[in-house]
Amino acid sequence: MARKKLVAGNWKMNGLSADLAEVKAIADAARAYPQVDVALCVPAILIERAARAVPGFAIGAQDVHEAESGAYTGCVSAAMLLDAGASLTIVGHSERRDAQRESDAQVKGKAEAALASGLGVILCVGEALDVREAGDAVATVGAQLDASLPHGAGAAAHIPDDLAIAYEPIWAIGTGRIPTTEAIAEMHAALRRRLVAAYGEAGERIPILYGGSVKSSNAAEIFSVRDVDGALVGGASLKAADFVPIVAAAAAAS
Ligand code: PEP
Repeated sequence: MARKKLVAGNWKMNGLSADLAEVKAIADAARAYPQVDVALCVPAILIERAARAVPGFAIGAQDVHEAESGAYTGCVSAAMLLDAGASLTIVGHSERRDAQRESDAQVKGKAEAALASGLGVILCVGEALDVREAGDAVATVGAQLDASLPHGAGAAAHIPDDLAIAYEPIWAIGTGRIPTTEAIAEMHAALRRRLVAAYGEAGERIPILYGGSVKSSNAAEIFSVRDVDGALVGGASLKAADFVPIVAAAAAAS
């Protein structure tokens, strides 16, 4: 099934007011590639200014709290993100699963809260290097996906249209290393089977992105892999000069 490609940038804890010029440059350039959905997930404090700077362009968050409101010091709810102008959020990034000890159940709760509020979700899964080396990557990431997927009445109405999965091997993030195209294809096919098992035909329509050291030099090869529906890009999303060629590669592969 043909799925529209999605290329999303994850700025992580990078970006000040001066960098809004890059947001604008990326949004302007993305207009040349209407066959690709493009989004930038910026630090929470930049969302409102970024969304005002580029009306109509998808600005996202990097995390969301699973509760609607309450005594959660330092956290941000889905309603707050929407109010600031975000249209989507990443959940379950490995940097949060590891450093903030986020469990699959919490990631699932975050995805459900975001979808129920009307935010799109990019749900990340991926294995550590020792798991890959032990030959357990497909089973481990599959189990992680099953336990993290949103369910329930509030979320169901937004699946598949507002949900994307990002397969991000932890050992590939920020390292310059990427899996072989065969390993990416094997993982994406396995995740696709799990999505269909969870959601039926709707599972065919959920984009599965690859993330981990995607650059302009390897994007075309990665996008040529069957069942790769786009990319979640960290370091190479900070500058239009690095990010726009990745969007162009996704367009060429569409
Ligand atoms: C990420 O953190 O989501 C990511 C893919 O980072 P990088 O592209 O820098 O490896």
